[in-house]
Formats: sequence, structure tokens, C-alpha cells
Amino acid sequence: MRRLIFEAEHDTFRESARRFFQREIGPKVAHWRQQGAVDRDVFRKAGEQGYLLMWADEKYGGAGVSDFRFEQILCEENVRHGDLGFYHVLHSRLVAPYIAHFGNEEQKMRFLPKCASGETILGIAMTEPGAGSDLSGIATRAEDKGDHWLLNGAKTYISNGILGDVFIVVARTSTERKHALGLFLVERGMPGFERGRKLEKMGLHAQDTAELFFENVKVPKANVLGDATMGFKYLTHSLAEERLIASVNSLSHAQVAFDITLDYIKERRAFGRPIGTFQNTRFKMAEMRANLDVQQTFLDQAVLEHNRGQLSAETAAAAKLLTSEFENRVLDECVQMHGGAGYMDEYRISRMFSDGRISRIFAGTSEIMKEIIGRSLGLDDRKLS
Ligand SMILES: Cc1cc2nc3c(=O)[nH]c(=O)nc-3n(C[C@H](O)[C@H](O)[C@H](O)COP(=O)(O)OP(=O)(O)OC[C@H]3O[C@@H](n4cnc5c(N)ncnc54)[C@H](O)[C@@H]3O)c2cc1C
Repeated sequence: MRRLIFEAEHDTFRESARRFFQREIGPKVAHWRQQGAVDRDVFRKAGEQGYLLMWADEKYGGAGVSDFRFEQILCEENVRHGDLGFYHVLHSRLVAPYIAHFGNEEQKMRFLPKCASGETILGIAMTEPGAGSDLSGIATRAEDKGDHWLLNGAKTYISNGILGDVFIVVARTSTERKHALGLFLVERGMPGFERGRKLEKMGLHAQDTAELFFENVKVPKANVLGDATMGFKYLTHSLAEERLIASVNSLSHAQVAFDITLDYIKERRAFGRPIGTFQNTRFKMAEMRANLDVQQTFLDQAVLEHNRGQLSAETAAAAKLLTSEFENRVLDECVQMHGGAGYMDEYRISRMFSDGRISRIFAGTSEIMKEIIGRSLGLDDRKLS
């Protein structure tokens, strides 16, 4: 089905993005998967193209382009021709906006231009060994020491954890107020800030995921974003966009899996004919095709709502829930249609299968998405009991 949300300028942008991902990312993926991380210089190269922090004002090194469709195109082309391991969107669209929205002018001038050029790589550290879905369990503490904050604690499963230069670290700033959290900009080289091991994962092998440790780290007051007790509110501000991005990646992943499987089942023969001609295969592909169109239409509509500033938390949660669950069903069917080849790492579908499993877990699990949608229906303990 033809997608109706793009205009000529988006098509032109997609062409050049495609060439970038084909040239700079695709050929390096096998090497990056082996080394467990992308090379730093790919962020620089993306920065040179203007692909990082496109939304930021020109004075901060951006292009002042807030239209989310351009970001959507970058994600789609990265999934098709690059690799989910290159987590440009975490840097650009999930972390940097916290600095733009909640930072002061000095912080914006200090951090954003280097993020836009790719010189500085960003990450965000919320999750802890004892707190994931439920951020109220955060135990990392920041104590106000007058001229600085003293940070102690540990974070885990942090993306860009090894390559990252600046992390937004979420820490508790009050023992009395449960939701008093602060967002602290912790920089590479600060005494007491250490990285743990690079974590071995089921998939996303080109992405560096790590533990971070903070032992008596003196964080200057100038590195606090906004009010040091309002972090919880700041985090919820960006969640709809985070889920929209996850959804874009999921559906693109499903679309690519479908396309490579369609090629495969036309070539692969069994019992004297291409396996795609078996009714079971044809019907499964037909169902996937129909669902891809429906989900893409819904997602594109959500993108337009986001552009208008009207994307609700529950619509973003619905998009994330639907597309990530669908992605996983598609990946499973596509592996099945590849037979034994689908289990072999040398086939892309096998790698995609293990990469895709995370989609139902990070950026909020499917169960949490259902909670958000359910609560929006008024089905909430606190309201009904
Ligand atoms: C590859 C990867 C990259 C990541 N990157 C980052 C990062 O950059 N920064 C960061 O801070 N974190 C990151 N995370 C952490 C990720 O966001 C968390 O793993 C995720 O939010 C789930 O939290 P958890 O692992 O503690 O699971 P838990 O919260 O322990 O959940 C376990 C299970 O219980 C279910 N559950 C929990 N609460 C409820 C409920 N109320 N109702 C029903 N079911 C519930 C969950 O849905 C899940 O199925 C990453 C994780 C991975 C694997």
C-alpha cells in the first residue's frame, strides 16, 4: 500500500540517507558484531551528514528540523541497509532532547554542538539491578553537598554504555519523597565513574550494552538538568516519543524480514516447486502483507499526530505494543520459512530474529504498554476500588 505521509523533500532525503547507510554502515556490520560495538567514527560521519540532532537549533549545531518524518526515514533506512546496533536514534532523539528541554543555556551550548557533530556520544542510565519497569525502585543516590552532588550507585543494561561520553543518570535526591529524582550529566573521566563489563546479549551484537558504577562521583551543580527533584516528570515527558521510535524500528524490522523472506521462498524449492507456492506459505505471507499495511498506516498516522504535538501516551503505547508483538510474530514465521537456514547466523533472518526479541522488552515492556492503555480506559485500581 502506498504511504501517504511523505512529500518530495522526504523522498530526496531518503535517497541520500539510503546511500549513507549502504556505504557507511552495511559493509561494517559483520565486523561490528564481532567486536561488540560500532566504531566511534560512525557517529562523526553521521554528524557530518547532518543526521544527528536534526531537530536542534542551528546555534546548537542542528538543522532546526522538528518534522519527525525525517527521523523516521533515518530509522527505516538504518534497519534496511545498516543495523539496529548503530543506535543513532538513542543519542539523537532519546537522550539529547533532555538537554534541550530541561537544560539551561550554558548546558545547551556546552553539550549540544558536540552531540550534533558526533564528537560526544550520549546514553541514558535509568535501569538498575533492582529497578527497571518500576523506576520508583531506583536506589542510586545523589546527595546535595553545597557546591556539588555526590553520586553513588550502579546502573545496568545501558546502551552506548562503553562508547558513551556523557550519560544522563537518574538518581534519587530525597529519602522522604518517593518520586524525587534528579537527572545528572555524568561525563567520561569524572573520578569515581567506572564502566563495568560489556554485557553479552542474545542479539544486537553490534550495540555496546554495559553496567555503569558511581562511587562518590562529585557531579558539579552545573551538570544537573532543571530541578533536581523533578526527574520523574521530565522522564515521562519524552516517553511517547521514545515509544514511537521503538515502534518505527519494530515495523521496519518486520518489513525487511518480510521482504527477504519473500525473495527466499521464490528461490528455494522443495517437492519440485518453489516453497512459496505451497498454500500454507502463501497464506502466511498474505496475512503478514495485510497486517504490515494496516500497522504502517496506523504508525504513520501516529507520526503525524506527534508532529502536531498531539500524540497521546496511550496511542504511543498502542503503537509500541502492536508493532513489537507483530515484529516478533513475523520474525518467527520468517525463520520457519527459511527452514534450517533460518537458524544459521550467516543468514540475515537468523540475526534479525535474535535482534528483534528485545523490542517487546525495552522502551517499556509489552505488559507495561497494556497497563498504560488499560489505565487510559479508566481501569485503574486507584480509581475503581
Ligand atoms: C539491550 C537492552 C538495552 C537497554 N538499554 C537501556 C538504556 O539505555 N538505559 C536504561 O536505563 N535501560 C536500558 N535497558 C533496560 C530496559 O529498559 C529494561 O530491561 C526494561 O524496562 C524492563 O525492566 P526490567 O529488565 O527490570 O524488567 P522487570 O521490570 O523486572 O520486568 C520483568 C517482567 O515483569 C513484568 N512486569 C513488571 N511490572 C509489571 C506490571 N505492573 N504488570 C505486569 N507485568 C509487569 C514485565 O513486563 C516483564 O515481563 C535496556 C535493556 C536491554 C535488554
